[in-house]
Amino acid sequence: MILPIVAYGDPVLRKISTEIDKAYEGLDSLISNMWETMYNASGVGLAAPQIGLAIRLFLVDTTPFADDEELSEEEQKQLDGFKKVFINAKILEETGDSWAFNEGCLSIPDIREDITRLDTITIRYQDENFVEHTETFDGLLARVIQHEYDHIEGILFTDKVSSLKKRLLKGKLSNISKGKIQVDYRMRFPLLKKTR
Ligand SMILES: [Zn+2]
Repeated sequence: MILPIVAYGDPVLRKISTEIDKAYEGLDSLISNMWETMYNASGVGLAAPQIGLAIRLFLVDTTPFADDEELSEEEQKQLDGFKKVFINAKILEETGDSWAFNEGCLSIPDIREDITRLDTITIRYQDENFVEHTETFDGLLARVIQHEYDHIEGILFTDKVSSLKKRLLKGKLSNISKGKIQVDYRMRFPLLKKTR
């Protein structure tokens, strides 16, 4: 089932999400609905707050990035088929050089900005079977995970731009909250009391 994606301005996007356990009701169908919702919107990641649930759950599938011809063959291979569920994730360490990448977000349609982040992360998380993993990722893989991880911490990529950029984006962001935007997937707008 395709779920409406929550738009910028909804308070759920600002909550620090809480951990879940195996007993979380309907988790399997929630995860499968989130995959369907993410693919329908051509996303490479989706976090639970984006569908209205402040729980520490997000999904990543970087396969669409594997076609980027500017990447090395090794990187393309790494991105192709990288499909994972992250539950109760905790970033333990962020290291390496900072680099900028043009990010977007399904909750903030039509806005893209160059965002600077550190290159390498070590993250501890549980998969969909609640098996714990501690892994290190870099490059675009780390980038997508960092963006989704921010969602479960109540942080959006637009928080990370300069104060000048923030002023420039203000009107656009407010229009998104009001649903004054063309978007080709289902969304829920906080300042528009109906779902498209
Ligand atoms: Zn996002």
